[in-house]
Amino acid sequence: MPPSASERSALVIGCGAAGLMAADLLSRAGCRVTAIDHMPSAARKLLRAGIGGLNVTHSEPLERFLERYQTDYPPLLTAIRSFGPQQLIEFLHELGVDTFVGSSGRVFPSTMKASPLLRAWKARLATQGVNWLLGHRWLGRNEQGGHRLQNTVGQHLDLHADICILALGGASWPRLGTDGHWSAHMPQACAPFAASNVGVEIELTSSWQHHRGAALKDCRVNIAGLSQRGDLLMSTYGLEGGAIYALSPALRQALAETGSATIELDLRPQLSSADLLRKLQAQASKTSLSNRWRKAGLRAVEMDLVRDHLDRALWKDDAQVVACLKALRLQVSALRPLAEAISCSGGVRASSLDENFMLKSWPGVFCAGEMLNFDAPTGGYLLTAAWASAHAAAHAALAWSAQMRAGREGL
Ligand SMILES: Cc1cc2nc3c(=O)[nH]c(=O)nc-3n(C[C@H](O)[C@H](O)[C@H](O)COP(=O)(O)OP(=O)(O)OC[C@H]3O[C@@H](n4cnc5c(N)ncnc54)[C@H](O)[C@@H]3O)c2cc1C
Repeated sequence: MPPSASERSALVIGCGAAGLMAADLLSRAGCRVTAIDHMPSAARKLLRAGIGGLNVTHSEPLERFLERYQTDYPPLLTAIRSFGPQQLIEFLHELGVDTFVGSSGRVFPSTMKASPLLRAWKARLATQGVNWLLGHRWLGRNEQGGHRLQNTVGQHLDLHADICILALGGASWPRLGTDGHWSAHMPQACAPFAASNVGVEIELTSSWQHHRGAALKDCRVNIAGLSQRGDLLMSTYGLEGGAIYALSPALRQALAETGSATIELDLRPQLSSADLLRKLQAQASKTSLSNRWRKAGLRAVEMDLVRDHLDRALWKDDAQVVACLKALRLQVSALRPLAEAISCSGGVRASSLDENFMLKSWPGVFCAGEMLNFDAPTGGYLLTAAWASAHAAAHAALAWSAQMRAGREGL
């Protein structure tokens, strides 16, 4: 149980996944919590995330789970160790939200959506006395250490509290409220934002026109010694999907260094080159090329990709076709814009925080969620980090304010 915090006031600024967790813990500990957001309603990104199935966490072993994060802030991993997938699932069950583990090991609410979770959570926050102040944008701190807010008609309001948790999110999908503008009020503390878990633009060949919207099921994407398996979607500009999203950090680095990046697609990772070659060679050579390929199990989109990428003179060379299917080289020219990204890197640097998520330059102000500078793939890792960091930040804030009070009272 968090330490008792009767009489203490707390501001939670940013009411997404992380802010709700912080508001919950602080109010349960007895703080008078004001939860602030500049949008007219809370947790818009969480609701949006629920549209395709809210993947809250992952069921893989914790050590493997932790390896998914790229961060230079070890307290984030410590926070996930103490409030990780298992604790999160228990937390959701306590809220009345049942969960299940999908075939890929991902964990979802049984309804798949975020709205029942949000409804139950808001009801609990109401019983715990959380006061909402929506439509108020955080504009940094004033000279007295208070927090400066502006409402939708431009009026200013300064608020002071014993505790403040900032949970302002990243900078992707700005229309949901996460515009990253907050970083202008603490520029020294922040690394620039960059898109993560995002589609890539590639040099389009004619197959792209014919197969726009087609799924490339269970591929392997390779880049610079890294590899990711999963589904891809051929979009109007290039590729989207979990397998390419997970490689965002490597792609970002390659693009920054050389201006372009080459990926290799293994369209048939389930089969070795030798097995694929045997399948092709088992087809009678007298039938048409398309028929041979079709009978060997190639789909129309794969045939067209081979035709695009292999010299016509080599189409009848089965070994060359196999080499093309196992390592289709695509030139990536750019990541899609930050506004379209599922998440971002950048935000509050590790060096700006103490080991308890508190800003070194603003004692008493703690940060949580996607506003922290870390990277993780899709698969429930993003929400788990948001919730775990908020859990840790709220506990640290309670302990810090208790210490301050004891100091003031000379205990
Ligand atoms: C389409 C999509 C699907 C996703 N699906 C998943 C998924 O299935 N699983 C998963 O793990 N993750 C998913 N994510 C990522 C996940 O939603 C985020 O990682 C998570 O919401 C981050 O929580 P947060 O509380 O840190 O930030 P947010 O949820 O972004 O909340 C930040 C809050 O701060 C408010 N705010 C910002 N600036 C100010 C300001 N200046 N003043 C006042 N308020 C401000 C915003 O309005 C917002 O309410 C998805 C994201 C997207 C876009």
